Amino acid sequence: MKKMNIRTFVILLVAACGISALTGCKSENYPVYTRIRNHADEIRVINTHEHQRLPEAYGDYHFRFYHLMAASYLSADITSAGADAGNWELIDSLGTDQLWDVYGEALNHSRGTSYYSHFVRGFRKLYGFNDLYFTRKNISRLSKEIEENYKDYGSWFDKAFRESGFEIMFVDQFWKPFNTELDDRYFALVFQVGPLITESGRKPEKGDHLKSVYRLAAEAGHEIATLDDYLAFCDTLFRRNIRSGAVCIKNAQAYERSLYYEDVPFDEARALYSRPSVSLTPQEIKKLEDYTFHWMIRQATGYNLPVQIHTGYLAGNGNVLENGDPLKLNNLFLKYPGAKFDIFHGAFPWTDEFTALGKMFPNVYLNLVWLPQISREKTVSTLDVMLDCVPYNKILWGGDCGLIEESAGSLEFGKDVVCEVLAGRIKRGLLTEEAAFDIVEGIFRDNAIILFRLSI
Ligand SMILES: [Zn+2]
Repeated sequence: MKKMNIRTFVILLVAACGISALTGCKSENYPVYTRIRNHADEIRVINTHEHQRLPEAYGDYHFRFYHLMAASYLSADITSAGADAGNWELIDSLGTDQLWDVYGEALNHSRGTSYYSHFVRGFRKLYGFNDLYFTRKNISRLSKEIEENYKDYGSWFDKAFRESGFEIMFVDQFWKPFNTELDDRYFALVFQVGPLITESGRKPEKGDHLKSVYRLAAEAGHEIATLDDYLAFCDTLFRRNIRSGAVCIKNAQAYERSLYYEDVPFDEARALYSRPSVSLTPQEIKKLEDYTFHWMIRQATGYNLPVQIHTGYLAGNGNVLENGDPLKLNNLFLKYPGAKFDIFHGAFPWTDEFTALGKMFPNVYLNLVWLPQISREKTVSTLDVMLDCVPYNKILWGGDCGLIEESAGSLEFGKDVVCEVLAGRIKRGLLTEEAAFDIVEGIFRDNAIILFRLSI
């Protein structure tokens, strides 16, 4: 090795310290929170739940700030505050400055919400937006940048995806559930089984216009007359999704019905399916759906696919909250110990029940997805209780957003919250820093790789 003069050595040492500070060196000069947070920024994140769509999927829009706001979770708070955030025609027809006159007050009234803060957080990460709140002036500036980026969304998405720290996103395409073509540079396929469950109770009669599952089956030359035929076609879709790399199945039915799935015998379901759907009572339709979801769980188990289930809070501005109570799933967890259930959203507001289910059942995994955006503070308290109760290899994270700015914000926000909880536990003597690093790696990456058997 060549001898190094002292000046070169000092320069290299200073440079190395500078770089390691940026990338998260374990210098004692940094507070414990910062050390964990820096470590989190080095993780290539496995995002276990997203709804990423191209801007065209929202309509023929040139995206500016208020379009993003209307497509974001924040829109529900804006509507709740008294302004209709879903008025895309208005957003498209007025200038950014005029739109502040429409939405400024509702935006200001929402400054305390987590939907608001995580939305801001995305712009801080990707646009260098350093203000705490939106104003007429800073939105105008931001809007011009958004418009510029969206002129070439592909390049913008690629840049933002990398800068955010994602390795892969699981995508639940509820708006086109049978599509199996995804760009595997960014996305992993989720098999959305909702329509298959729902349509088991809505068999068309001869001469009906075929929709959704039944049209797909007809196009594939698959005749459906009996429940056996229907399930055989569902299995065809299972295999098609698996061939396309599906990592799990997903049930989001709490948006439309109770999560209680009764254990209906096959003979009863087959007899119900054989009758015209129009003659079935709502209870009988539910029985068919219940049977089909039980069947889905058995198939998923056979194919080694975990079962993701929406529990708890429902996005938007009005639904039957009680449908999402996670305790309604208890019978499934008991009946299928070989299945792996990934339950979502901290089941807010049933966060304690959610945690208890993860503690009681080895096959129930707890996903923090979207919980920090619903309530930052509830996530802090819930994660603390989860760490008291549940081995941390069972805790996962996801974003649950439609556009990259919001996903970036949800990751930043999620890391902030997780690291705050871990730093608090270190300070209270409940955790070592080494274990905290392990937990943060587990939540944002390693646990998902193991649960979903990802070859990464
Ligand atoms: Zn979702």
